[in-house]
Amino acid sequence: MERKRVLTGDRPTGKMHLGHYVGSLANRVRLQDQYECFFLIADLHMLTTRPEKAHIEEIAENAREMVLDYLAVGIDPAKSTIYLQSAIHEVYELNLFFEMLVTVPRLSRLPSLKDMARAADLTEMPFGLLGYPVLQAADILMPRAHLVPVGKDNEAHVEITREIARRFNYLYGEVFPIPEVMIGDVPTLVGIDGQAKMSKSLNNAIFLSDDAATVRKKVFSMYTDPNRIRADIPGRVEGNPVFIYHDIFNPNKAEVEELKERYRQGRVGDVEVKEKLAIALNNFLDPIRDRRAEFAARSGYVDEVIYDGTLRTRKEAQETLMLVKKAMGLTGVWNRISRKAEEAKKRRERANELASQRVGGSTG
Ligand code: ATP
Ligand code: MG
Repeated sequence: MERKRVLTGDRPTGKMHLGHYVGSLANRVRLQDQYECFFLIADLHMLTTRPEKAHIEEIAENAREMVLDYLAVGIDPAKSTIYLQSAIHEVYELNLFFEMLVTVPRLSRLPSLKDMARAADLTEMPFGLLGYPVLQAADILMPRAHLVPVGKDNEAHVEITREIARRFNYLYGEVFPIPEVMIGDVPTLVGIDGQAKMSKSLNNAIFLSDDAATVRKKVFSMYTDPNRIRADIPGRVEGNPVFIYHDIFNPNKAEVEELKERYRQGRVGDVEVKEKLAIALNNFLDPIRDRRAEFAARSGYVDEVIYDGTLRTRKEAQETLMLVKKAMGLTGVWNRISRKAEEAKKRRERANELASQRVGGSTG
């Protein structure tokens, strides 16, 4: 039996951070043995908020950094296909068909799009940004994926994909599976500044490739309980980013419980809590950094991974687009017109030939 498929990806806007890891990357690594996985470098999605040439010029380098992060956390190109979205032309076509299957009010209601517009300092919604989830539907449905591992902020977008897939199948016949969303163990990781989401654009991220000293420095700058101005004041553990990170990244549960207990009683300083978090994070990141360095040292390797994955994906995309156009009856329209046109051309050529033979015959 054919393996079910996974699709997910990231915009090539820089390096990957801990939020990406717990929200999506960890699930990808787990899934790649059971599923046939496709991971896209979503450079067309990047254009929805950053169309300027300067950003386009950074895509290749950002894509390399991103794929190094993939490889470092354990995504294996022998099992999973990594590809460049903009090199798959069929996705542009699917995107257009899917635009007909969703309404503007439905998209306008998504808070995530307004958030993205605001983060990019856009005062008005670009047409393409409104279509962000539609393009995502084209990505997900292109390999006819069954499962989409993403962070919580993307859940509503996958719902749009499901609606588009259902609508397509209803209008034209069963072509697509209705994909399921898979949210990470940590649906949304808070930033080191206490803001709801760790994000590059909010400048509150710890990157998978940060060195140990940078991680330590970032941890020491972390937002904790603002009411706790001295170590002997009882502190709040719940919702405190330092303890949220301890719970996720410190495997020594006994140590974490003991720190929480003393924190609640006002018997531990922030320095000790943060020092232990920095150690836990660096222990977690050390093997990732080592693997990253190994892959980075192989010249051209990452480019080859993207190149091979993109060629492989093109075949899938062509197959899906054929199925789509056949189901819609669009191949038939062109076929009928071109057949008639070719017949007409042949008839005219034949008539011209006969006419010239007649003319030739009369002079000879
Ligand atoms: P950033 O804001 O840092 O650029 P992003 O949201 O733009 O991040 P995307 O490329 O859009 O990142 O998304 C990559 C994947 O990582 C998505 O599945 C997204 O849901 C997930 N993700 C991003 N940030 C977080 C976070 N802080 N916590 C959990 N998941 C996250
Ligand atoms: Mg991003």
